Amino acid sequence: MPNIFEVGIVGAGVAGSSCAQVLGRAGVKVAIFDNSHPREKPCGGLIEDRVVDEFDIPAELLENEIRWVLADRFKFRVKLFFKPSMFLISRENFDYYLLQRALENKNVAFFDEKVSQVIKKENGWILKTSKDRWVKVKVLVGADGCPSLVRKHVSRPIPPQFLATTVGYSFPCSSKYVEKAFAKNTVEAYYSHEYVQKGGFIWIFPKRTSINVGIGSIETGKKLKQSLDKFILLHSAGKRLKFLEGHFFTHLVPAIWMDDFFDVPCSGGNWALIGDAAGHVNAIGGAGIYYALKGGILCGLAFLDGDLNLFERYWRKEYGDELYHGAKAVLTFYSNLGFFLWLKYIFESFSCQLRFC
Ligand SMILES: Cc1cc2nc3c(=O)[nH]c(=O)nc-3n(C[C@H](O)[C@H](O)[C@H](O)COP(=O)(O)OP(=O)(O)OC[C@H]3O[C@@H](n4cnc5c(N)ncnc54)[C@H](O)[C@@H]3O)c2cc1C
Repeated sequence: MPNIFEVGIVGAGVAGSSCAQVLGRAGVKVAIFDNSHPREKPCGGLIEDRVVDEFDIPAELLENEIRWVLADRFKFRVKLFFKPSMFLISRENFDYYLLQRALENKNVAFFDEKVSQVIKKENGWILKTSKDRWVKVKVLVGADGCPSLVRKHVSRPIPPQFLATTVGYSFPCSSKYVEKAFAKNTVEAYYSHEYVQKGGFIWIFPKRTSINVGIGSIETGKKLKQSLDKFILLHSAGKRLKFLEGHFFTHLVPAIWMDDFFDVPCSGGNWALIGDAAGHVNAIGGAGIYYALKGGILCGLAFLDGDLNLFERYWRKEYGDELYHGAKAVLTFYSNLGFFLWLKYIFESFSCQLRFC
C-alpha cells in the first residue's frame, strides 16, 4: 500500500520548501522529495533585499552585502551604486535552512529520495522513488528545477531554445584573500563579446570564503567553458583567480525570450509548476530565487483557497509584469545597441548612482 498525502512536492529547492512551509503550517499533509541535500546548487546566490524582507531571512545567512556592481560592457566600464543593497548567499546553507524551516511542522514529511516515476490516476498521482517507495498524492507540485520530470507529465517541457547553459567555478579561499583581492561590497559583471558571443555575461561574486565565477548564455556548454577558462587566463580580472583551485559546475536555467511562453498555464486542477520548473526566471540577468520563493508561497495559497488554477492569477499579479518585460527586452538588452537599454533597465529597477571608471 502506498503512503498517502494531500500534496506531493517534487524538489526541495527554494520553491519546494517555501510551498511546503505554507501548506504544512495550514495543516495540509505534504510529502516533499529531494535526494540532493546538503548541496551547493550551481548558482550565483545574489538576492535582492525583497528576498530578505519578505521571507524573513536571518542575517547570518547573508555572506556579503552588495552595494556596488562593477560592470564592463563593450568599451564602457562603470560602477553602479545600489540602493537598497543586494546580498550574496551560499545555496547550500540557504536551501538547507528553508527546508528545515518547512520541516519544523509535523505535517511535512521529507523523503531523501529522487522521484523516478510519475503515474496519473483518476483521483491523483502515484509517485515512485529511487528507494522503490510508492506514494499516492491528490495534488502534484513540480518544484524540480530545470529540466523538470513533473513538467513532462503535466505540460510540455520548456523548449530547448529557452534554456540557457551556465558553467562556472566556485573557488574556496580565505576571507583574508577575498578582502585583499576584491573591492568591498562589490560584484563584477563582464559583457564582452570576446568571451560571450551571444547574449549573456560573466560574473564574479566574492562571498565569505569563496569566489563564485560563472558564465551564462544561450551558447553550448563546451564553448562556454572554453570562454570562461580563457577569461580567467587572459583577462586582467581573471588574474586573481587563476592560481586558486575551483570546483567546476554546470547547470541549465530558463531564459525565456518570447513573452508568449508565459501565456501557457503552469497550474491545473490537481497540479502546479513552480520556480524553474515553471520557467519563472527573469531572462535579463537570470535571477530566479525571488520568483521561486514567491511562487512557492502563492501556489500554497491557491491550494488553501480551494482552487490551484488561482495560482495563475496570483503569480501574474505579483511578478508577471517582471517576467513578461524580461522576455520582451532581453534580446535587445544583450545586443550591441543594448548598452543604453541596459542602463535604463538598471535605473528603472534600482535606485542607483553611476560612475564611469
Ligand atoms: C549558474 C546559475 C547562477 C544563478 N544565479 C542566480 C543568482 O545569482 N540569483 C538568482 O536569483 N537566481 C540565480 N539563478 C537562478 C536560480 O538558481 C533558480 O532560479 C532557483 O534556484 C530556482 O529554484 P527552484 O527551487 O525552482 O529550483 P532548484 O533550486 O533547481 O531546486 C530544484 C530541486 O529539485 C530537486 N529535484 C530535481 N529533480 C528531482 C526528482 N526527480 N526528485 C526529487 N527531487 C528532484 C533538485 O535536487 C533540486 O534540489 C542562477 C542559476 C544558475 C544555473
